[in-house]
Amino acid sequence: MVLTTIADTLTRSVESAGNTLSETFFEPSLRLGVTGLSRAGKTVFITSLVANLMDRGRMPGLVAQSEGRILSAFLQPQPDDTLPRFDYETHLGALTARQPHWPDSTRAVSELRLSLKIRPSGLLAGLQGPRTLHLDIIDYPGEWLLDLGLMEKSYADWSASMLQRLAHRPDPDGFAAMATSDAAAQKLEEPTAQRLAAAYTTALHAARAQGFSDCSPGRFLLPGDLAGSPVLTFAPLPPVDRAGRGTLYREFERRFDAYKSRVVKPFFRDHFARLDRQIVLVDALGAINAGPRAVEDLRQTLSDILKAFRPGASSFLTSLLLGKRIDKILFAATKADHLHHTQHPQLTSVMEALTRDARDRARFAGAQTAAMSMAALRATTEEMVPHNGGALPCVRGTLLDTGKQAAFYPGALPEDPNHLLGAARSGADTWLDQDYSVMSFAPAPLTLKPGEGPPHIRLDRAAQFLIGDRL
Ligand code: GDP
Repeated sequence: MVLTTIADTLTRSVESAGNTLSETFFEPSLRLGVTGLSRAGKTVFITSLVANLMDRGRMPGLVAQSEGRILSAFLQPQPDDTLPRFDYETHLGALTARQPHWPDSTRAVSELRLSLKIRPSGLLAGLQGPRTLHLDIIDYPGEWLLDLGLMEKSYADWSASMLQRLAHRPDPDGFAAMATSDAAAQKLEEPTAQRLAAAYTTALHAARAQGFSDCSPGRFLLPGDLAGSPVLTFAPLPPVDRAGRGTLYREFERRFDAYKSRVVKPFFRDHFARLDRQIVLVDALGAINAGPRAVEDLRQTLSDILKAFRPGASSFLTSLLLGKRIDKILFAATKADHLHHTQHPQLTSVMEALTRDARDRARFAGAQTAAMSMAALRATTEEMVPHNGGALPCVRGTLLDTGKQAAFYPGALPEDPNHLLGAARSGADTWLDQDYSVMSFAPAPLTLKPGEGPPHIRLDRAAQFLIGDRL
């Protein structure tokens, strides 16, 4: 354990020395992490961000662009040979097809390098030629960050917390009935292990479908290339008095430890620990639509996820980071095109309230944080619809399931976000004073003028916060 930590530390110091050298003498790079829970909007965000950085007609909020200093932006081979490339072209093709459709979502970690040629500003402008900044965008599932919590948990502790959560959640394949102390004390039979892992995974998927976010281990929902491997064939079990060698309990405990050392640790060491900036995407509207329990679960899960960004919160992570830290974190409520712009400030307040604890701590540790509402790809137009002698602020778009056009009013978000979060914390089953309904829209067919990227809401401001100071 000590030896591996020293080895990790050495690798990281050699790496950071390498980075500093190349940054000083060659061209600087900035590693931007894009994360969020499944369906939060990571794939759409990266695709639209890259398209809008290449064709910058809709990016007036990016200061270097409005000053005319971004000379060009182009895709380049990425620096990490063993990481899958983010499939930008296919995803953009889906969004810009004659009959556009949403691209396939993030299932594992991937990377894309976009290089920007920039004219320096200020005093140096006349003296220096253009310089290049490489923006390395790393896409990874937020579910994987939840696994940080596992690093300091024993199998017994993790089992106890998950079994307690599962008791209040759907269990379509009867996992709870299978996961008994009796079963745990039996000798390991691989088919039994597989049945338990499969039923547990089904329960996690069902919980996720109902809007519950804390579904660990993260790789059970998004296994990447590990699907079906023994390191994912385990499940929580109730405690057993003196479980002997070769029992199901001991074997699951061993696999849980292997999951931590072979899956969780390499991810944090090789990817997370090398990030400079981070955007955390949150489908807050989706959770509000699913009801108070989903909102409370989202709040708790975000606070678990964001522990990864608190220096010192985990001794495991501290040993990997070596003092390096992410210095800017943006929390973005996605899909704001589901709301008329008059409600965007309320959505931003909900986002701020959802991440308040974590933001306060991150700020305390020196990282600059911000919250905003945005839509990476605007799929709607705004419309005032006459209603009871007044007018309702609506959005119009093509409904994903029927293909029909409709204008719709999602419900009024409160001025004070605590009206939502308070009801969620108190365990209410439904919202008392308001109904929310968020429809799924299809992406609208695009006719882009030369030099224009896809339409969005505040993507330029997000880019300014995340990379503006380096341009
Ligand atoms: P990921 O799992 O985080 O990669 O999520 P995706 O980027 O695949 O987005 C999931 C789904 O959310 C998409 O298929 C769309 O239905 C929806 N979505 C994502 N971004 C937007 C957006 O900006 N506007 C709208 N209207 N829907 C979005």
